[in-house]
Amino acid sequence: MRIQVGGLADGIYRYQLAEDSTLLELDERFKNQVIVDATIEKSGSQAFLAAEVSAKASFECDRCLTSFISPLRSSYRMYYVTEGGADSHIDPSELQVVPTGFSVIELSDDVRQTILLSVPLKLLCSDQCKGLCPHCGANWNSGECNCEEKADDPRWEQLIRLKKQV
Ligand SMILES: [Zn+2]
Ligand SMILES: [Zn+2]
Repeated sequence: MRIQVGGLADGIYRYQLAEDSTLLELDERFKNQVIVDATIEKSGSQAFLAAEVSAKASFECDRCLTSFISPLRSSYRMYYVTEGGADSHIDPSELQVVPTGFSVIELSDDVRQTILLSVPLKLLCSDQCKGLCPHCGANWNSGECNCEEKADDPRWEQLIRLKKQV
């Protein structure tokens, strides 16, 4: 995934790029294509990139173990500057030093990292996911089972205690 900037006059340019997730070396959770909406600001032999990245991934829910498809969206910025040309206010993570006369912006690594960082820490099929019964394994999203109530019922616990004493 790359953008040719070599022959561009100074100015602002917009691109939409698409790449297969496997070509970006993303793992098998990621499906279909990764789309990048890129804005390039070319200035002399330097360039600024703002990229909106979107992808789709198939995750397994942390609570109910069902797989679900989730859209992912994120963005990043990058300054491509020549040696010594960096403003001190630029965040080093948004800076790549390029040789004078550089002509191609290679996006693949940054796009892949941006997507991987956009994966939520908690993977839930829905915020309301009720999860699985720890006793019988029933998926509580598709209905309640009978075991949990009994285990939580204090009278049931008393009964268990009585049985142990016998
Ligand atoms: Zn779930
Ligand atoms: Zn159950």
